[in-house]
Amino acid sequence: MEYSELVKAYVAIEKTTKRLEKTYILADLLKKTPDSNLKEVILLLQGKVFPTWDERKIGISSQIALKAINMATGASLDSLKKEWAKKGDLGLVIEEIIKDKKQTTLFSKKLTVIKIFENLTKLSELEGKGTITKKIQLVTELLASSEPIESKFIIRTLTGELRIGIAEGTLRDAITWAFYPRVEHINDKNVKGKSKEVKSLEEIKKLDLKKYSLIKAEEKLARKVYNFFIDKVQSAFNLTNDFSEVVLAIKKESLSKLDMNPGVPVNPMLAIKTETISAAQKALGEKVLCEYKYDGFRLQIHKNKDEIKLFTRRLENVTKQFKEIIPLIEKHVKAKSYILDSELVGYDPKTNNYLPFQNISQRIRRKYDIEKKSQELPVEINVFDIVYKDGEVLMTKTQEERRKILEKIIKEEKHKIVLTKRFITDKEKEIEKFYKESLKKGNEGIMIKSLTSLYKPGRHVGGWLKHKPIKETLDLVIVEADWGEGKRVKWLSSFTLACRNKNHFVTLGKVGTGVGEKDQELTFESLTKELEPLIKEQHGKHVILKPKVVLEIAYEEIQKSPTYSSGYALRFPRVVRLRPDRSASSIDKLERVKKFYKEQKK
Ligand code: AMP
Repeated sequence: MEYSELVKAYVAIEKTTKRLEKTYILADLLKKTPDSNLKEVILLLQGKVFPTWDERKIGISSQIALKAINMATGASLDSLKKEWAKKGDLGLVIEEIIKDKKQTTLFSKKLTVIKIFENLTKLSELEGKGTITKKIQLVTELLASSEPIESKFIIRTLTGELRIGIAEGTLRDAITWAFYPRVEHINDKNVKGKSKEVKSLEEIKKLDLKKYSLIKAEEKLARKVYNFFIDKVQSAFNLTNDFSEVVLAIKKESLSKLDMNPGVPVNPMLAIKTETISAAQKALGEKVLCEYKYDGFRLQIHKNKDEIKLFTRRLENVTKQFKEIIPLIEKHVKAKSYILDSELVGYDPKTNNYLPFQNISQRIRRKYDIEKKSQELPVEINVFDIVYKDGEVLMTKTQEERRKILEKIIKEEKHKIVLTKRFITDKEKEIEKFYKESLKKGNEGIMIKSLTSLYKPGRHVGGWLKHKPIKETLDLVIVEADWGEGKRVKWLSSFTLACRNKNHFVTLGKVGTGVGEKDQELTFESLTKELEPLIKEQHGKHVILKPKVVLEIAYEEIQKSPTYSSGYALRFPRVVRLRPDRSASSIDKLERVKKFYKEQKK
């Protein structure tokens, strides 16, 4: 398949923000894509050459891309950098240059999807001496034979900024549209095709779908049939995490033979927040499974024959970063192959107390001193689920059945590998007690799970709920601000917040989140209007203000910090609303901030 076919789709997708239009364009492209190019097209559509969990990376910095553009086009590095700064997108820079050159150069040969893919793959395999020169050659070769619009997307793919945003759900829908019959209301006369009228979902299940391009049904049933098709594609994707495998299986009518492949991460099941325990019981049934919600990070543990691999919630491979736990997994889990779902929790090796997530977070992306860090910041594995074992997919077993399997195969050892602390009950009071106990132990809260729910990737009603304390907000005053950049140049866009300490104000962070560009209750424009008359001093982009405007602020956490004059900093602050009803003299005092800081430590 020619690369220009794919580029045509990129261009069309870039032009629209409507999901349905994107789906249509994608479905059309997928129908045209030969089987031998499916894997490449599906990855390139998402701006990738390797799936997220593959350790290989293209490894092209903007600097190498610039050098390659310089070699391929002869444009000087200086002029390239200037244009880049102006346009903010190297893809647009190369497109312009090649357009200008077009009259004089003849393009050698048409680029194919496979050629692009081959060169990009080779980039990741280069190692050692002369690597940079070879990388530049590989890119130059592609640019030299590309049309202007193609070069734009080659550079964007290389630098990891495709900028066309295709969500997983859109791809799934496109595959359904492309390879399943269209579903319409029975009275719709506008759509043509070899059609079949159905009266029940059972009928669909027995039908040879290949024979029809159109299924007609009453409105309610039509929706059910459409969802049935979508579910088929989604379930197949849940198993394989690979849309090209799904498409090939649909084409060969072998969807039911698709299997899980330990070593390839699955998308994790996620939780919905519940404000109260009684609401959780209403949603899941009286009798529920409660578990501690640990403050660590999600870890998927895969074993296939002799190899163990570890993946984060975002499906990144972190096997190397946590290699110290591999022998321990080998020893404590009794099965040949499996996929476990767990939370990795850090603890202090001196006191054996659990540590909050931010402590071990530094281990996730670490490339050096891995061993030293593993001793300084050891981790305990808290296993809470299993989705595959010795050739059997367990996603379709109930929560309770899965937990029983876990209990059989894991030999627990404190501070190494344990099963999550759990509790089954139908009494609200007991859940409340369990929740309090969990908070006391320094956990984030509890998870409340339906005993009968299957393992379904994503957030689902009737599956998992999380219950955490609702953080109290703070009323703070804006004492300083900064003028914005780019689109926000006319507005004050970052606001320094302060609380009261006796007779003066002390700062505890900056906020911009929660204020909108437009169509929101509180916008940068309206806030700037409020603040402009209050400017006392201006230093470059920075302004000092009379403390008058009060904001209600939510945050994730309070940390000690030397950066701000209060000695504390808010982590991830967010504006909840403007408080015109509050004056600077009635805002929160430092004592309250200190109190919250101490409470969260408990
Ligand atoms: P949140 O990140 O607030 O959406 O909460 C969901 C996350 O809690 C999961 O992705 C896990 O990383 C973590 N977690 C901690 N304990 C558990 C547990 N017992 N069951 C499931 N997830 C847990």
